[in-house]
Amino acid sequence: MPDETVPAGPFSPWLSATLRARRLPTVGADVPCGTCSGCCRASFFIHIGPSETEALARIPQALLFPAPGLPEGHVLMGYDEKGNCPMWRDEGCSIYAHRPQTCRDFDCRIFTATGIAVGGPAQAPIAERVAQWRFTYPTQENHAEREAVLATAMFMEAHGDLFPEGMVPVNPTQRALLALELHRVMYDFQLEADAGPMPADDVIRDALVVAAQGPRSAT
Ligand code: SF4
Ligand code: SF4
Repeated sequence: MPDETVPAGPFSPWLSATLRARRLPTVGADVPCGTCSGCCRASFFIHIGPSETEALARIPQALLFPAPGLPEGHVLMGYDEKGNCPMWRDEGCSIYAHRPQTCRDFDCRIFTATGIAVGGPAQAPIAERVAQWRFTYPTQENHAEREAVLATAMFMEAHGDLFPEGMVPVNPTQRALLALELHRVMYDFQLEADAGPMPADDVIRDALVVAAQGPRSAT
């Protein structure tokens, strides 16, 4: 575990910005990556949509293949034998100004926030930074929201079998994002529980399922 720590910013503003960016798909994440390039070297498949003409024009066709389960035109870019994105160079991303939206959206702080593991050994370059981030909690609300996010993630991890098939994503990134989106359910339960016990697991499960089917919460 690395000793160095990296400021991740106050928790609640980060959470709000992350959820807002999810609703405005071209906004992207504002991550203070510094010299880290973990996600360019972590054996990720990068999704590129058909409207991303600037990125598509700069990536050799031979590096792209159809994205399984998505409509025609959606493609994936793989990685080399070292796990590096083929667009990665020692000095950084060779198409940075035109990088895919997937790269613009990725924020590894979602793993720090939720406590969900980023993946296996191939994702070690990201896990290193995930362990270094430190959020701040300037108000009680920041603490409460973090507790709700953690509790939501832990509930989904511990009770995956209670949910309808396919609701809890296998992919850690998607699972972490779902925990962020549904955290308000647990926030409300925790608020009520100040005066008593938390509800039964099936009550929490039902509330999370309903929230997952409807408009997602915002902070
Ligand atoms: S792993 Fe995190 S900090 Fe590193 S480049 Fe990716 S998003 Fe930025
Ligand atoms: S396209 Fe650029 S930013 Fe995206 S993973 Fe590859 S090297 Fe990193």
